[in-house]
Amino acid sequence: MLQIRSLSKTYANGVHALDAVTLDIPRGMFGLLGPNGAGKSSLMRTLSTLQEADSGSVTLEIPGEAPIDVLRDKDAVRRRLGYLPQDFGVYPKVSALDLLEHFAVLKGITHKGQRREVVDGLLQQVNLWDARKRKLGTYSGGMRQRFGIAQALLGDPRLVIVDEPTAGLDPEERNRFLNLLAAIGENVAVILSTHIVEDVTDLCPTMAIMNKGQVLLTGKPSDAIDALQHQVWRKQVDPSALAGYEANHVVLSTRLVGGRPVIHVHSASDPGDGFQAVAPDLEDVYFQRLRLQSRAA
Ligand code: ADP
Repeated sequence: MLQIRSLSKTYANGVHALDAVTLDIPRGMFGLLGPNGAGKSSLMRTLSTLQEADSGSVTLEIPGEAPIDVLRDKDAVRRRLGYLPQDFGVYPKVSALDLLEHFAVLKGITHKGQRREVVDGLLQQVNLWDARKRKLGTYSGGMRQRFGIAQALLGDPRLVIVDEPTAGLDPEERNRFLNLLAAIGENVAVILSTHIVEDVTDLCPTMAIMNKGQVLLTGKPSDAIDALQHQVWRKQVDPSALAGYEANHVVLSTRLVGGRPVIHVHSASDPGDGFQAVAPDLEDVYFQRLRLQSRAA
């Protein structure tokens, strides 16, 4: 649905935010996972036509329509795109209903009756109908993000881009928000940019891992996890021994369990020394890819 080819961007300060990014993004939920500074927002802003790339191409293919050259035909993209930016601000003194109406006018839904129908439908879809007359300043973080999705869905987009939407949400709000995204992903391509591995694990049938402007891996999370089978080992260790393990093993992650560090290491064979085999998860995949990249650098 979305083809990204060799997309590159270097900022004036010399940072290579996008380094020959090539990705195929199908319909459904696509997770774009990477640490802060990976280049996710730069990619999202480029796809959303808010920022120019230096080189490369992006094509949006909608069944039954002519392909759209995203980098050149910006108006056409904007008509088919919904975007929830990372720093989505709202007017705190305006109600959700009024602001959504206002956005709908900007989106070109000029017929009043039709606009009412669309706005009411979206407020119901994102479960804000009962709170529609409340001022946005009184909304919780999760409610604000759901409002952000409602505005992104105005105009029936084929491509929806959400940038780090779950940061700062409590577990219940996060769940509710992800369920909403999953329902939307049934019909359109949704790109979810996040540094939270669980967001992708829980939601995305396809994904990419990105860091330092480069795509390190793309495909199905389950395939990437399968490829690491029998290569991840865990051990609870003494805090004072951590540095030693890091020197002698490929440590993927260190987590505190009951206040004591538990490390995961990557090794093709049993490292012995009290390590136990564990079933790998997406977090192991993620850290392994980041490790491989930093070792190659
Ligand atoms: P992410 O969204 O994954 O955190 P960004 O795309 O925001 O990553 O940033 C990628 C890199 O580009 C970072 O090193 C960041 O500091 C740099 N960067 C982002 N925006 C700008 C800008 N407008 N000017 C200069 N450097 C930028």
